[in-house]
Amino acid sequence: MKLLVLGTGAGESYPGLWCTCENCSYARTYGGKNIRSNSAVMINDDLLIDMPASALQNAARWGVSLAQVKTLLVTHPHTDHFSANHLWNRNWPKAFDQHGREEIVGKQSAPCASPLPMMEIYGTRFVRYAIENAEDLTLSTEEYHYRFHEIAGGVRFETNGYQVTALDARHGEPGFTVNYILEKDGVSLLYATDTGGYSAEVWREIAAHRYHCVFLEATAGAIPLTGIAGHMNLERAEAFLGQLKAQGCLMENSQLYLTHLSPHWTPPHDKLAPMLEQKGIGVAYDGQSIEITD
Ligand SMILES: [Zn+2]
Ligand SMILES: [Zn+2]
Repeated sequence: MKLLVLGTGAGESYPGLWCTCENCSYARTYGGKNIRSNSAVMINDDLLIDMPASALQNAARWGVSLAQVKTLLVTHPHTDHFSANHLWNRNWPKAFDQHGREEIVGKQSAPCASPLPMMEIYGTRFVRYAIENAEDLTLSTEEYHYRFHEIAGGVRFETNGYQVTALDARHGEPGFTVNYILEKDGVSLLYATDTGGYSAEVWREIAAHRYHCVFLEATAGAIPLTGIAGHMNLERAEAFLGQLKAQGCLMENSQLYLTHLSPHWTPPHDKLAPMLEQKGIGVAYDGQSIEITD
């Protein structure tokens, strides 16, 4: 499994779009891995987890086309994870020639001038609501070449060769956010953002798998949290990984990464990465390529 990290920031991005605090100023000055846009990853060129506007733009920056994406898994419809209006760009004008073959007509008038495969979108009923209320999407779903599948935590499904398990997360009202376990070709990924931990029932599902790679949020960084909080901090993220290890869910070569990091609670990458390296925890960065092997 191949992973391209399209973003690792929390909602405000890193630096915060309007912010000049110490961490935000540091990120602007030193750039590189200190710059984080909203969190998303692409798997094997054909599956996206989350689709914030910034991830679509980052793909081009790293020379990657999203045209082969056949599955989009949405965690939740907060704008830092899903920009429904951007589906508008999937409209390419289709007609049939005299032999019944698809052809493109009127290229100039459409946002996309080359054919796209159907994209299967999976998300909760809240994602459905976001799509239905996206004011730019005035055409039919066929014209944007996607199909929407409503799912909920606890559901397991197969899509384009991936086994997917949706997990009820703790972020927003009940049922609002799901996280995902992805399995293909004998390797597995746990994508765990956004969430403030999991219920005992979800933990049972999590503990029933072994992970070659874990992407885990640590939004609240160094600040203390009380209650469920809807996010994790560094302390809770470390405890979560420790629990995975204790339950036999990790292997010697499992790759562990933190993501969804906020400038106001988390030091910039230059400072955070060395702090966590000695603990065997990686800090993901925008544009990172990861090879996940058995
Ligand atoms: Zn978020
Ligand atoms: Zn969120």
